[in-house]
Amino acid sequence: MQVFKFGGASVKNAEAVKNVATILRSYQGANIVVVISAMGKTTNLLEKVCEAYMTGKDVSKLLDELKSFHREIINDLLEEDSHEYYEVENLFIELECLLETEPGELSYDQAYDRIISFGEMISTKIVSQFLNKHGVSNRWLDARNFIVTSEHHRRARVNWSRTESLVGKMLRKLVSKQFVITQGFIGRSITNKTTTLGREGSDYSAAIFAYCLDAESVTIWKDVPGVLNADPKRVEKTELISEISFKEAIELAYYGASVIHPKTIQPLMRKTIPLHVRSFVDPEASGTIVADHQRKELIDIPCYIFKDDQVLLSISTKDFSFIVEDHLSEIFDACATTGIQINVMQNTAISFSMVLNNDEARLEKLLETLENSFIVKKETGLQLFTVFNFKDPKNIEPYTKGKSIALEHKSGKTLQLLLKEGAVS
Ligand code: ASP
Ligand code: MG
Repeated sequence: MQVFKFGGASVKNAEAVKNVATILRSYQGANIVVVISAMGKTTNLLEKVCEAYMTGKDVSKLLDELKSFHREIINDLLEEDSHEYYEVENLFIELECLLETEPGELSYDQAYDRIISFGEMISTKIVSQFLNKHGVSNRWLDARNFIVTSEHHRRARVNWSRTESLVGKMLRKLVSKQFVITQGFIGRSITNKTTTLGREGSDYSAAIFAYCLDAESVTIWKDVPGVLNADPKRVEKTELISEISFKEAIELAYYGASVIHPKTIQPLMRKTIPLHVRSFVDPEASGTIVADHQRKELIDIPCYIFKDDQVLLSISTKDFSFIVEDHLSEIFDACATTGIQINVMQNTAISFSMVLNNDEARLEKLLETLENSFIVKKETGLQLFTVFNFKDPKNIEPYTKGKSIALEHKSGKTLQLLLKEGAVS
């Protein structure tokens, strides 16, 4: 049994869906659960729909955009006036009906999950029906029948025991007969509400299914050849890393490499299920295999990871006394209660610095709390540049040129620089 995951880019238009069909056709006869994301940038658009709905604005233009984007695809893939075509149209109607009712008791995050899930519902309906019409027999299933989660909307936690039992009871049998097509990213709470696992969470869904099925492998099909040592949009010459360990993959994801969703690796690592990252553009190529290799450290070239829009907070006591344990626990406590993740931290005798993502609403709350006890200096518009497997300072010159370093942190073979535009004044 295997799990495949196709992300938004792999189903962004009709041609892309046909390509998915070609890939799956070459696996006929295998037992595969195929997890699919919303098409192209649909989730971003649905986020706007949700925002408009919850703030009482007109949603019709956004809905028109959503419908015309998908209609262009189904006009090419499905026969007009067919049963399949109307199954997709029915989802538009269902969404419209939802948006016509007042939010009432629905919290923002509950509404978000209900609305956002339509992206995956629509994409999987289209792909499944197209495949069935073109010789790739499959069964469409609603992932909410299997993935049971907590009530934490937008960042639901998996209820592993219930999920495992549902997958074991129902999905295992179904996938042994034909391909199963289902949605990434969505689940259902114990009280039967739609939940989501966090943006870009479809990789994680694939890992959840694989874990519960004891799958032999997971394959994430991407628009890049595999795990590269940098984002090709940022770095001119990138290199493919053909093998990496689970631990290295977790570290890369932690530092912000966007190729694999950070939560994906842990469930796979627990059951030593290998993860393949392969190109849907070049499906013959072997890509990268993330697994429990004998040798734990496989990456021997430097990897470059960039995180933009970072904020540096420099915190000192009001009486300029030393920063001691009590202060640190107060600072960490404030971060935990506001839900802020610290990307890098550093302390000197009289100040404590931390690098954070620029999440305005959360930051504002954090500052409010911290300023009760501390003097806080805030600097924005910074870039966190991480070099995993740092070797030669010469290699990083192109990325630091013309920039000044606001903070430097080195641990083991990892170098992190917080960069500011413009040379040191
Ligand atoms: N469609 C969702 C998102 O864009 C989930 C995913 O793509 O993994 O965040
Ligand atoms: Mg997506």
